[in-house]
Amino acid sequence: MNKYVALTFDDGPHPLYTEKKLTILQAEDVPATFFFIGENILKYPEVVQKVQQAGQQIANHTFSHPDLTTLSKEEVRTEVRRGDDALFQTTGCVSNYLRPPYGNFNRENWEAIGKNLVTWSIDTQDWQEGRTTEEIFAAATQQVTFPAIILMHCFKKETVVALPKIIHALKEAGVTFVTVAELLSLESAAITGIKVTN
Ligand SMILES: [Zn+2]
Repeated sequence: MNKYVALTFDDGPHPLYTEKKLTILQAEDVPATFFFIGENILKYPEVVQKVQQAGQQIANHTFSHPDLTTLSKEEVRTEVRRGDDALFQTTGCVSNYLRPPYGNFNRENWEAIGKNLVTWSIDTQDWQEGRTTEEIFAAATQQVTFPAIILMHCFKKETVVALPKIIHALKEAGVTFVTVAELLSLESAAITGIKVTN
């Protein structure tokens, strides 16, 4: 059975580190998925376009990164729509996939969103202050069960440093890298409970 892994990068685009990650992914010929925040898309549209041109998956991470469980249905819809609008303005596309900020959602806002909701199975905790390259590497490569969705972030320099090592270690373990869209189309994603979709 194939060992599928989807690498995901949240909260970008970042003016420096998103492109550095993109270069590594291209050099390694590895697909990944970027969950961009609408506000940041409007700030750095040229970075988004480079990610699109590289053929990587881009998906919605809301417009301003609120905890959706604290919002009304209407506010949730607005966050998602403004995220879609920013992406459409920049790339001419929208995504059917959304990662709720902090992984937080409930049935009510799930229905309001009307997209495939994507969380993760492994959190590298790279967003934490003081989290080292070695700790990020260890989280992404030790005790991985397949299929896996690995959470990382666009804004962390340590993740840029850890990324080639993570990719090499997972390649060595015989992993097949896929986008989130590819992963969630697999039956095995549902079986292991990482498929969250409406
Ligand atoms: Zn986020």
